[in-house]
Amino acid sequence: MKAEIISIGTEILLGDILDTNTNYIAQRLPGLGIDLYTTHQIGDNLERLTELLRVAWSRSDVILCTGGLGPTEDDVTRDGIAAMLGETPEVDQRLEEELRQWFGRRGAHMPERNLKQAWLTPSTKDIPNPRGTAPGWWSEKDGRIIIAMPGPPAEMSRMWDKEVAPRLRERATDAVIVSHTVKTVGLGEGTVDEMVSALLKSRNPSIGVYAKADGIHLRITAKAPTEAEARELIAPVQEEIERILGPAVWGHDDDTMELAIGRLLRERGLTLATMESATGGLLASTITDAPGSSSYFRGGLVAYATEQKIAWGVPAEVVEQHGVISPECAKAMAAAAHAQLHTDIGVAVTGVAGPDEQEGKPVGTMHVAVHDGFDDHVISYQFAQGREAAKRRAVTVAFQLLRRVLLARG
Ligand code: AMP
Ligand code: MG
Repeated sequence: MKAEIISIGTEILLGDILDTNTNYIAQRLPGLGIDLYTTHQIGDNLERLTELLRVAWSRSDVILCTGGLGPTEDDVTRDGIAAMLGETPEVDQRLEEELRQWFGRRGAHMPERNLKQAWLTPSTKDIPNPRGTAPGWWSEKDGRIIIAMPGPPAEMSRMWDKEVAPRLRERATDAVIVSHTVKTVGLGEGTVDEMVSALLKSRNPSIGVYAKADGIHLRITAKAPTEAEARELIAPVQEEIERILGPAVWGHDDDTMELAIGRLLRERGLTLATMESATGGLLASTITDAPGSSSYFRGGLVAYATEQKIAWGVPAEVVEQHGVISPECAKAMAAAAHAQLHTDIGVAVTGVAGPDEQEGKPVGTMHVAVHDGFDDHVISYQFAQGREAAKRRAVTVAFQLLRRVLLARG
């Protein structure tokens, strides 16, 4: 099944919003056995949209549209699809009733403009959208399918997961493509590539090695008639990769560093506290991205000013002798977090996020430390790719160091 995706909305062309809908759908097509041939972004212009729909319709089995289902004048997706199909949209009684009820439940009067959200054409069935007022459109004609979903990502993703993907899964008869990602840390891209080089010749499954912010990822991809068969092809290769890379493997697929750290802390029954300077709370925030983090994370101190570091327990002598941009200060901050919040582990970040240097230390200088009640551990490095990236990198490094310390504690 050949597919194309069309994202509709002038705000996408103006760069006001990022087209995350295309990304969401594209990631999910291989698993359905649908081949994505091309994607488009187009503004809210009926003529140009209709023209694009005609071209797409002439060459693809399924067209997936998002956006332009709102009630306003510039939401023209329904008009475009109807024009392309050569059909006239009409208000559907049941949909109109549902729409009026939707507004009624919220104690609001329905603007007449919204009535176009109750339109259907002879080849079109509505797709339920409990998260909004605009139902989706599923149109079929001459063996082809065109689907229109709302633009807001929360509405689109629910409609995709619950309504569209299950129905497409029944239709698509081609082989499915399934991937499994193994995530590693602590080894360079070249090293990983070399270690698994014997496996890289494999074609089905094939293996890709990618450098990511949180380490080197290996993506194992298999093609088979069913998902179960694809997983059978992947399993032995995954096992072999994990055997070769051993403790460098920290997670799989949607795993994040904060989830992995959370598992290690929970297994060991240990608690954690943070003291952050350069990252301004990002480390604590990221730790709490893991559901259930309350069972091990006691809290975090954002000690931005030097006096605040001292007030929270960093010895003034450490600051005087080494400055705040130093491994010594990072270690003292980790120990202070551990002491102030009465946890097993303290983790700290200090550094120069930029754009100006500090204490004569260059932009991007970072010191990350962990205090585990017995020892201090510190990683110092430099990373000058802008403030935001420097903060994010420091969080990743803190997780790396935490992982190392936690694994050593068995
Ligand atoms: P629309 O359905 O075109 O009126 O879109 C409503 C809102 O959904 C837009 O203002 C965006 O915030 C969001 N949106 C629309 N299309 C996309 C897209 N392709 N990716 C991410 N968000 C989108
Ligand atoms: Mg729009």
